[in-house]
Amino acid sequence: MIVVVKIGTSSLTDEHGEIALHAIEKLCSEVAALRGLGHRVVVVTSGAIAAGLPPLGLAGARPTDMPTLQAVSAVGQGRLVRVYDDVLARHNLVAGQVLLAPLDFVHRSQYLHARQTLTRLLDLGVVPIVNENDAIADDEIRFGDNDRIAALVAHLVGAQVLVILTDTPGVLTADPRLHADATLIEEIIEVDHELEAVAGGAGTARGSGGMASKLAAAKIAAWSGVRAVIAAADRPGVVVGAVAGDAGVGTVVRPRDRRLPARKLWIAFAVGSSGTIVVDDGAYRALTGRNTSLLPAGVVDVQGDFDAEDAVELADTYGRVFAKGLSSHTAARVKEWAGRRTTDLPVDVPHEIVHRDNLVVLP
Ligand code: GLU
Repeated sequence: MIVVVKIGTSSLTDEHGEIALHAIEKLCSEVAALRGLGHRVVVVTSGAIAAGLPPLGLAGARPTDMPTLQAVSAVGQGRLVRVYDDVLARHNLVAGQVLLAPLDFVHRSQYLHARQTLTRLLDLGVVPIVNENDAIADDEIRFGDNDRIAALVAHLVGAQVLVILTDTPGVLTADPRLHADATLIEEIIEVDHELEAVAGGAGTARGSGGMASKLAAAKIAAWSGVRAVIAAADRPGVVVGAVAGDAGVGTVVRPRDRRLPARKLWIAFAVGSSGTIVVDDGAYRALTGRNTSLLPAGVVDVQGDFDAEDAVELADTYGRVFAKGLSSHTAARVKEWAGRRTTDLPVDVPHEIVHRDNLVVLP
């Protein structure tokens, strides 16, 4: 099996916010155990910012502005990987650093290169150590401490399991910081709005993810046909148990039967949307029921300012977002064409506003 294991800042740092060597040692011995069982393993790790704070004399108080955090990550990333490299070497394993940014999943050639490199690293017996390229991109600092990157990597390498390690036993029925009687949800069939509301809240002072971004990552994994397990980083044997499917190890999010093609996955989850197109009831029914393209006749309103090829959300007349896609035209043109029949449009340009190949209907 190919397994992606993701560990976040809060599980890798001590009470002073500094990298806790024992946490990396525990993770690496589990990676070695998986390798011993014949699995291939990719580690997605945060901690670059945490590792960069002490050498800059900033250990006590994590800065909050992005340029400083990005600079700190540049100091810390090399130090972080050195720790992995040293610890994995004790298990006779070789580490290889790969830094990715969300755009790498959007541009097809970058995506294919990333896939080729990661696959070759696995062929060579290397343990890829992946992080966001924080010095250049800041998405995961803002969004979720590498949760989304980990899910996209799981899709990219064709993993069977994504293990998301965190500082709670998994997804709980309520916030354990507020409700002492919160219990573990052992299996999630579908990540829906209700569940997202229960999981709520952002992360801790040291990490940035929280359960909401873990569920969002598990959802990407599910749509990729990858089983996701959200579990406690400090639980003995957690990774091996999660991969084996042992009961009670954490929260298992079941994969969907159908794996969304890579391109649709990017559209649904990797690309941020730049606007919203509101469609009438007829278009809503055709798009959700018959897998058609969106034509100008069905458009009733356009919000935001987007270019051709930008991602947009599609909403019904009640404002409910039901799909995401790439617009073939600029916001100005969609506005101009809204409600018009095909016979009233110029003949030399394609009429689809969102082509069916560029459209994903969300559950
Ligand atoms: N990729 C970042 C890191 O490795 C994100 C984590 C954070 O925001 O602390 O440090």
